[in-house]
Amino acid sequence: MASIEFVKVSKSFDRQTVIQDLDLTIEDGKFTVLVGPSGCGKTTLLRMIAGIDPQTSGSVLIDGKDVTRIAPGKRGVAMVFQNYAIYPTMSVRENIEFGLVNNKVPKAERKRLVETIGATVGLNDYLDRKPSTLSGGQRQRVALARAMVKDPSVFLMDEPLSNLDAKLRVQMRIELIELHKKLGTTFVYVTHDQIEAMSMADTIVLMNKGVIQQEAPPEVVYRKPSNLFAAQFIGVPPMNIAPLGDDRATFGFRPESVVIGTEPESFHYTAKGEVITREMLGSETIYQVKTTDGHAFMVKCPDDGYHVDQQVCLGVPADQLFFFGPDENRVDE
Ligand code: ATP
Repeated sequence: MASIEFVKVSKSFDRQTVIQDLDLTIEDGKFTVLVGPSGCGKTTLLRMIAGIDPQTSGSVLIDGKDVTRIAPGKRGVAMVFQNYAIYPTMSVRENIEFGLVNNKVPKAERKRLVETIGATVGLNDYLDRKPSTLSGGQRQRVALARAMVKDPSVFLMDEPLSNLDAKLRVQMRIELIELHKKLGTTFVYVTHDQIEAMSMADTIVLMNKGVIQQEAPPEVVYRKPSNLFAAQFIGVPPMNIAPLGDDRATFGFRPESVVIGTEPESFHYTAKGEVITREMLGSETIYQVKTTDGHAFMVKCPDDGYHVDQQVCLGVPADQLFFFGPDENRVDE
């Protein structure tokens, strides 16, 4: 296991600075998810940890040790990519033991290790198959096994599930959580998918334009977003936002906090409007409601009994409202 620290790290490509003076500590043994929109610098951070593409200035420490001058292969990290990086002509077994053969690990020991790791990722029935005969999820497990065989103190994962279909992604998310529990190793996982971040992370590091917006457990990012960006990035559909005054302050509420009805009720915030769209998802329904003062708000609730064009009343309890100052930071009211 190992902690990772970024100290005043900057990274430029040509003359473009994509990360500037970034400080971040990734805790030992935790599942940390770097999340943010495309191009915000997540992969850049991961590559700096791996040493594939080092920082322009500042230091990266692994387990308290400055690794700036340590080669990628000697940092005790293993990386898993979205495109698996497995050899198509080799069997699953050969893929997993490839690094061991290179390191001259004796044959019996290799067999034992491959089978232990194969069992951990549920691949032991497939060891003699070629990757082309495996499903996407099984191939991703081969990639994980290839990383595990190095016995790294840090796993770096760059969108490893993005090539899988929706159902398999959900299954692999659970498998990764279990794998992390079993191994107890530091996981650093990059994704632009906030649902992946929310469901797997011990700690979310939310980034935008190279800057960390919030670093907290998922429930804290959801309940106490540090700013407007965090409030709107986490949650589906995103938080509803409306202006509060003429000083660019805003307030917001989550679609799932709205109470919808046909009669006005007494809430801190109430509005009348008309249902514009209705999306029935099974256990819940998402409505878009256009209020009389011209806002379009999303409402998510278990009640599917409203129809398009229907006049409705919305209410939001006081403790479900969020307030943001002109600087877009959340203010407690
Ligand atoms: P995505 O989710 O799309 O992979 P990301 O958050 O991982 O995005 P990075 O790949 O870290 O983003 O890229 C951050 C910024 O750095 C982007 O503006 C990108 O264009 C730039 N960048 C990354 N690699 C290079 C490179 N080799 N040369 C020039 N610019 C680069």
